[in-house]
Amino acid sequence: EQLSNLIAAGEVVERPASVVKELVENAIDANSTRIEVEVEEGGLSKIRILDNGTGIASDDCEVAFERHATSKIKNERDLFRIKSLGFRGEALPSIASVSDFHLKTSTGDGPGTYVHLQAGSIKEKTAANSRKGTEITVNNLFFNTPARLKYMKTVHTELGNITDVINRLAMAHPTIAFKLTHNEKQVLATSGNGDLRQVIAAIYGMQVAKNLLPIKAESIDFSISGWIAKPEVTRASRNYMSTIVNGRYIRNYQIMRAVQEGFHTLLPIGRYPIALLHIEMDPLLIDVNVHPSKLEVRLSKEKELTALIQEAIKAELKKTTL
Ligand code: ADP
Ligand code: MG
Repeated sequence: EQLSNLIAAGEVVERPASVVKELVENAIDANSTRIEVEVEEGGLSKIRILDNGTGIASDDCEVAFERHATSKIKNERDLFRIKSLGFRGEALPSIASVSDFHLKTSTGDGPGTYVHLQAGSIKEKTAANSRKGTEITVNNLFFNTPARLKYMKTVHTELGNITDVINRLAMAHPTIAFKLTHNEKQVLATSGNGDLRQVIAAIYGMQVAKNLLPIKAESIDFSISGWIAKPEVTRASRNYMSTIVNGRYIRNYQIMRAVQEGFHTLLPIGRYPIALLHIEMDPLLIDVNVHPSKLEVRLSKEKELTALIQEAIKAELKKTTL
């Protein structure tokens, strides 16, 4: 059991950013409206995630650390209509197997629970006072897997990866207030008021947020909404075009191309738009054969979608230049 957790950890927890992603996705799945992430030394010495979600009942605390134990899927039918971000039941056992892991959680009725695990084995479980929600602290990640630890990049790189993870989750969930701090310095804070513009302001700054054009388009298959920055405010890389499909951050080259082409001749050479698009579509139009942890996604009716995006952008740009 411990061995299979370690093997799974090799895949699920590649680096601190993967730990942050799994734990924050759990917080989102638990219906949290506030999620705070504190990291130290690029996440290698400490990752602390605080949420105000449903919490875990005391009786379920041990089960949560068993492999393939998930509360999110009850039967085969659920597997084909997954709404939650997680469903494999691998994250907690994997992360706990390669760290010093503290869980404090409460469902809000009765006392909460504190569980301490070291390298995957439970060292302590007690009742603990805490407010509704969950607090997870992961200390000394990879302390018992020195080969993995050696493979880590600089604090700067690991923090960059963690920031990317939180940025993407914040872009996908504008109604959740996110806060990220590194070595006690604030890196990102969103308000959770539901407005995508405040997320854009938090990530890209006011200069960008003050220069946005709304994008809206509908078809039988797609519903698109979001914002693009005016052609005066561009970037030297494609990475500032973000796409959220059915609540998940994805990467699709054709969609990025469509955004770019929507700008037509207005883009200086070597410059790319800043954009944040939310797209809703029937999940059946998304290729499920692509591994869920991968960002790249294939879509059916991609041509219809990219045409819709391009047209919406062109129409909006026309309005502003008139
Ligand atoms: P999965 O997310 O695939 O179900 P995990 O290993 O990530 O598996 O988590 C195991 C279980 O622990 C989840 O199914 C959920 O019931 C519970 N859990 C984990 N984190 C939280 C959290 N922050 N709030 C509430 N429940 C949680
Ligand atoms: Mg999970």
